[in-house]
Amino acid sequence: MQKQFDELKTRLAEINDLTAAAELLMWDEQTHMPPGGAEARGRQIGTLQRLAHEKLTDERIGHLLDDLSQTMGDLPYASDEASLLRVTRREYEQATRVPGDFVSQVAGHTSATFNVWTKARQANDFAALRPYLEKTLELSLRFAEYFPGRGEAIDPFIDQSDYGMSAATVAALIEELRAELVPLVHAIGAQPLADDQVLWRTYPEAAQLAFGEQVVRQLGYDFDRGRQDKTFHPFAARFSINDVRITTRINENFLSEGLFGTIHESGHAMYEQGVAQALEGTPLAGGTSAGVHESQSRLWENLVGRSRGFWEHFFPALQASFPAPLGDVSLDTFYRAINKVAPSLIRVEADEVTYNLHVMLRFDLERALLNGQLAIADLPAAWNARMEADLGLTPPNDRDGVLQDVHWFSGLIGGGFQGYTLGNVMSAQFFASAQAAHPEIPAQIQAGSFDTLRGWLTENIYRHGAKFTADEVVRQATGARLAIAPYMAYLHSKYDALYNL
Ligand code: ZN
Repeated sequence: MQKQFDELKTRLAEINDLTAAAELLMWDEQTHMPPGGAEARGRQIGTLQRLAHEKLTDERIGHLLDDLSQTMGDLPYASDEASLLRVTRREYEQATRVPGDFVSQVAGHTSATFNVWTKARQANDFAALRPYLEKTLELSLRFAEYFPGRGEAIDPFIDQSDYGMSAATVAALIEELRAELVPLVHAIGAQPLADDQVLWRTYPEAAQLAFGEQVVRQLGYDFDRGRQDKTFHPFAARFSINDVRITTRINENFLSEGLFGTIHESGHAMYEQGVAQALEGTPLAGGTSAGVHESQSRLWENLVGRSRGFWEHFFPALQASFPAPLGDVSLDTFYRAINKVAPSLIRVEADEVTYNLHVMLRFDLERALLNGQLAIADLPAAWNARMEADLGLTPPNDRDGVLQDVHWFSGLIGGGFQGYTLGNVMSAQFFASAQAAHPEIPAQIQAGSFDTLRGWLTENIYRHGAKFTADEVVRQATGARLAIAPYMAYLHSKYDALYNL
């Protein structure tokens, strides 16, 4: 039995090495690669991914899983061994259900769609994309058919990013949240608009990079097992538990982009750096779901990084780094500026109160598309109507509307968005539990110390890697099911004061 288990782990480690090598090539593509390298790089990444897929779908993996689950069936659920068998079984079954030639067909179609999108978006030309999107929808529905009995067509997509959730559970959460968020957005909208012009002054790039590094180092991002590079669309990338990198984009005329983007990515990276070393080289050595991952980036970015206490500690150092734009600015003015709430057209630029409305719109529209209740031809109008209803804004063109996000134009339709809102909701529930266990956390944040908070997150979330589903992590860490109450309590405690509600 031990021999078979070792063989499985050896095979999984090889798959992991191939995947990590592909990840490293992708990281390089988006940070340092000269433009001329693009064609060969696409081929190289494709080769590694194909080899990894072949190794994962090898029948031998299936046989090993069958044998081992019989002999090791009575191991405790939470043990590393039982978790490895459980998660590998899930990945093996997902990978073997979808035929290889279908995967190639999707890859070819989505790469063509992405190329059309980059031009059509600039030209506001939805009509040019319509036939591509119609094909994407057709392929998405075919993908869903490989998972019969899974409920709605969007469910297999949700399984891939937020395993254990379903259209029904996500929709129920979203409805509940929307009913409370829309009135809050309207109440804030009736108040005088916050002034954030101090953030739009000139902030030299070198000083922004240095300050961002100083902040995330203090939060606990480990530069001995990580590094930061510049890119166009920031992300975090893991090659092993001991090499998790972050990327950032600096805008010299808007401080928030680089600063909060850096904190956000360090949250993703600290999660992956915090996974137990024993899980290295296995499918358990990463974050467990899109939602839990986003809960960590948003917790550090918003609940910590946009809190008043955090800036009571860091604002003097920020002023020292940027004497020209910030020398005459008070902490209070700065705190109000970084927490300005205003309806806007673009999801990635939205504040934390309106952000979820952007996500819900996308989730509801892709669910309607997959359920046959909405045609691609009617998508732009449906988008604009929902923007008007929820945020009181009508996009002046499709570039600032339906064409803004890469998700539907670089993959299949479905499951790409709910993780953002699940993450926001989880972030407040985790933070509330950490604070209940350690009431000293707010005072520590005010003093620039984050070890207690990071220690609680490591103990309850990070070290487990992908052993438990999102639902299990939430219940184990907080003693309760995922609920919107802690999130709404957080938003009200902060924004009722900021906007005199
Ligand atoms: Zn993120």
